[in-house]
Amino acid sequence: MNEAKVMTVEEKHSTDPDDLAESLRSTLVHLRLWGLRDVLLSNSPRPGDTAGYDGERLESAKQFEAMPKKPPTHDLPLSRGSPPGPEPVPSDTRQHKATLLEDIRRDLGDCRRCPLHGGRTHLVFGEGNPAARLVFVGEGPGADEDRLGRPFVGQAGQLLNKMIRAIGLRREEVYICNVVKCRPPGNRVPEPEEIRTCSPFLIRQLEAIRPQVICTLGACASQTLLRTTAAISDLRRKTHVWRGIPLIATYHPAYLLRNSAKKAEAWKDLLEVLALLHS
Ligand code: URA
Repeated sequence: MNEAKVMTVEEKHSTDPDDLAESLRSTLVHLRLWGLRDVLLSNSPRPGDTAGYDGERLESAKQFEAMPKKPPTHDLPLSRGSPPGPEPVPSDTRQHKATLLEDIRRDLGDCRRCPLHGGRTHLVFGEGNPAARLVFVGEGPGADEDRLGRPFVGQAGQLLNKMIRAIGLRREEVYICNVVKCRPPGNRVPEPEEIRTCSPFLIRQLEAIRPQVICTLGACASQTLLRTTAAISDLRRKTHVWRGIPLIATYHPAYLLRNSAKKAEAWKDLLEVLALLHS
């Protein structure tokens, strides 16, 4: 059974000049924040890339035109229903989701369902706002995460934090989790059997939160939720739907740390996330 559908969404939002100027200002601040501005400025045209830097700028301008009327702010309520509106999520809804997440954590227990448990220091369940409008899904804990029992706290986590800030959110507003909850040895990609064993807990987490948007980081998370073996490069730039929730696939921050030039591509994905949050 395929739970995920693909739909190409070209959301077009008009925006007045003041809003556009504010969006551009705020965006430039954030681009600098996660190091993308420098990437764009140093971007020489790639072989076969007739657009070059001006093309990137043109593309960015189109993206800005497509941005919602209200630019991203840092004071979005901590939690909102779907779609975003003036009403914050009632605290009983938030409490209900928090309770569901606690139940899932309790069911995981001192998990020994797959061999990964043997090498772990801490099981990394996930963390964040139980009523998050946006959930990021990574692959599995690395060394820092295993040591601290928290997702995305190493170098890749620092970049993820910047990506979150770049779309006007704070880390504590979103929810962050992984496909597998225990660190694969040497940070290898989780084996299919490990994913099969652990992913039902991820699915329960996503169903408990039911965010407005899911953003999968890298091939493992994207392929797991979309039930495909397609390459991440083919899964990007589309809005998928996972159990009724829009899903955007983007590059893993660890990959972006090794391939800075791809940050420009990831930024486009984040703009799509942003547009969906404001749609
Ligand atoms: N990489 C991941 O996929 N998840 C983490 O939590 C940390 C690094």
